[in-house]
Amino acid sequence: MNNFVSNVVKNMPAYLFSELNRKKKALQEKGVDVIDLGIGAPDLPTPDFIYDVLVKEAKQPANHRYSPYSGTPEFKEAVASFYKNYYGVDLDPNTEVLTLVGTKEGIVNLIQAVINPGDTVLIPDPGYPVYRMGVHLAGGNAVSLPLDKKNGYIPQYEALTKQEREAAKLLFLNYPSNPTAATVELSTFTKAVDFARNHNILLAHDAAYDLVTFDSYQSPSVLQVPNAKDIAIEFGTLSKSYNMTGWRIGYVVGNKEIIHALATLKSNIDTSQFLPIQKAAATALRSDHRTVKENSMIFKQRMEKLHSALAEMGMDAHKPRGTIFLWVGVPSGFTSAEFANKLLDELGIIVTPGTAFGPSGEGHFRISLSVSEERLDEVIKRMKNLDGLGVNPS
Ligand SMILES: *Cc1c(COP(=O)(O)O)cnc(C)c1O
Repeated sequence: MNNFVSNVVKNMPAYLFSELNRKKKALQEKGVDVIDLGIGAPDLPTPDFIYDVLVKEAKQPANHRYSPYSGTPEFKEAVASFYKNYYGVDLDPNTEVLTLVGTKEGIVNLIQAVINPGDTVLIPDPGYPVYRMGVHLAGGNAVSLPLDKKNGYIPQYEALTKQEREAAKLLFLNYPSNPTAATVELSTFTKAVDFARNHNILLAHDAAYDLVTFDSYQSPSVLQVPNAKDIAIEFGTLSKSYNMTGWRIGYVVGNKEIIHALATLKSNIDTSQFLPIQKAAATALRSDHRTVKENSMIFKQRMEKLHSALAEMGMDAHKPRGTIFLWVGVPSGFTSAEFANKLLDELGIIVTPGTAFGPSGEGHFRISLSVSEERLDEVIKRMKNLDGLGVNPS
């Protein structure tokens, strides 16, 4: 059978999360009450006002047809109006907005639309694994853009070699960040746009957690940088802000040549998203985002609870201003993978080792806050019994 499978698929690194799922199932079959803090998706339901639109629109036969390839005008106008209201950014819904079947698809297809075999792509390290995988699928050369804790996980362009800077064609950034939960001010994007412009690199910012922020912190858009559209695009999704991971709806905005190239490629691959889903998502984007604030409050409370418990155990975690994650330092004497395995084998707790997000993830692990406070209490109880933490219990 192996002979039928292409080299590109054969050579794909195993998707870590499917491996974790296999281990989780095996433990559950043995009767272990596994607590999964590995899942990168909100556990809360999609708000009713969105779901209601889906139900109503799904009953209309006119909505059972193909969508326009680039998405419905209604959804694209809602994206443009969201950018205007939330960021003060003007977008032409016809040329500067494209509907995506979730941003994962959009990221992988963008790489196909931009990268020739051998081209260099700078990817955040640690970062969302799809960037590296997408570069692999396109036959490109993924180069890690180091992000270090000392500098708040903002890009260290100086750490790249001159040759890497000159070869780069595409650069991915992601704030608020998965997995580090790092957040930035607009100045980080101003620098990124300058860097991209000086080196003739397309800047692709992934804003998956744009609205998942705490208190008064508002995450900036790369398109708030003057003239960023010359050189930048930005991905957005309803998945995390509106708890719509399974709906598969997102968008990309910005530079119109790139949007056009991606739309051309995609028109040969998919035929956009189900019309009622685009209508429901448009309603979400035009709302006052109150439900997102309410959800973010829940994530913040969970974060505070776990953060203070971890701090008490002597574990090192930075307190984030957004996302659904805590990025925690591994106790001394363990690698990320060893510690993640220890938590699973001894406590039945799944976390994601930092190395799943790139070599610079070594020394950390990611906790997803997608479980209830009661489950977090259980996590804390179990972790207090973990020995070998190198923490003085007194
Ligand atoms: C979850 C996530 C995505 C994928 O979102 P979808 O729109 O559901 O495909 C993209 N980027 C990051 C950083 C994410 O965490």
